[in-house]
Amino acid sequence: MDLTGDILIVEDEESIRKFVKINLERANFLVKEAGTGEEGLEIVRNSDIDLVVLDIMLPGMDGFEVCKILREQFPRIGIIMLTAKSQDVDRIIGLEHGADDYMVKPFNPRELVLRIESLLRRIKEPINGVPDIINYGPFTMDTYSRKFYKNNNGIDLTPTEFSIIKLFIGNPGRAFHRDEILNLIWGYDFMGDSKIVDVNIRRLRSKIEDEPSNPHYIETVWGLGYRWVDKD
Ligand code: CA
Repeated sequence: MDLTGDILIVEDEESIRKFVKINLERANFLVKEAGTGEEGLEIVRNSDIDLVVLDIMLPGMDGFEVCKILREQFPRIGIIMLTAKSQDVDRIIGLEHGADDYMVKPFNPRELVLRIESLLRRIKEPINGVPDIINYGPFTMDTYSRKFYKNNNGIDLTPTEFSIIKLFIGNPGRAFHRDEILNLIWGYDFMGDSKIVDVNIRRLRSKIEDEPSNPHYIETVWGLGYRWVDKD
């Protein structure tokens, strides 16, 4: 699989930005850079960016705002947030704004490369041996164009949300442990915690369930994880 991609790094600290750029270029990514959120959004609007590495602390518009705008206008772009170690709550807020993953500063650039590759896999993965169109109840999933519909209305899913739904719909009735979802979706030994799964599930429920607080499709398996409802 072709795992190259166009990456944008948005970070005001030049030394970190250059450090990330050099390391990503060494891993064969095409890298653009921006020092502010406004500049970053401009680049995304005018070029073909697959994935944004987005710092939270930025002058002017902060990373959360940029993430929110990106999600509204470019739901299928990958987003990895950079958060400071002292601000634990930031990563959860970032995930709630729709980030696919996060890195805590200071980080090992090789780990960032791994996370980027994993996310690009979610964005670009060709689906082998699976029909292009999957119907399930009111839902239709087009695995080729990566579009998702409920009662023929399009629902914008992030790359990570799309991968989770695909896993669920392919395995109705099967309970997945949070750690298993982490491994299958994030695709490596994830060094964070499984809250990232819970946040994504919560967002997915708000997008696809009739009553997100009383979910019918994505069931909670207490003490374990989640399960897609078995076909009625
Ligand atoms: Ca910064």
